[in-house]
Amino acid sequence: MKVSLGQVRGFSVAEREKLDAATLRLTEVLNSREFRDGVLSATFGGKQGYASESRNPSEVYAAIRAAKENFTASADGEVDLNVSLQSFSWFQRNLVGYTTESSDTLTTNRRFFSSYSPAEVAGHLAHEWLHKLGFEHDFKATARRPDSVPYEVGELVERLAASGTLTPL
Ligand SMILES: [Zn+2]
Repeated sequence: MKVSLGQVRGFSVAEREKLDAATLRLTEVLNSREFRDGVLSATFGGKQGYASESRNPSEVYAAIRAAKENFTASADGEVDLNVSLQSFSWFQRNLVGYTTESSDTLTTNRRFFSSYSPAEVAGHLAHEWLHKLGFEHDFKATARRPDSVPYEVGELVERLAASGTLTPL
């Protein structure tokens, strides 16, 4: 799989370097055996699978590999990312970032981005990108939300991105 940055807005040179490092690491994670095995072995409520998701882990993995975003026409196996970095207002200060179903862009809160490692940025990008594939989670911090595809797989990406050498597929 490839990760391709399209429109990138609001980044300084240093911020762009961190984004590029995160993107590179995300690519390595997505193409690793550890990532595949992690996605396939997810459990929720004592059974194989994810919260808020009817597809089984094999189908979830296949959807990730196909990489058919809501705003693109083809399942090209390419992660297409448009990212906008913004300084959120005070009342949104605890929000890491967001995207909407109709949007082709991920918006990231500079307050978090500034303190994040590239691995954490990779996890955040993965979380928001998974929404673009149609994966959802509870809006509120429910007990099952961490077991949803965006949270579970986003955390997996962050963990693997922070770890040492990965085994290519
Ligand atoms: Zn989310």
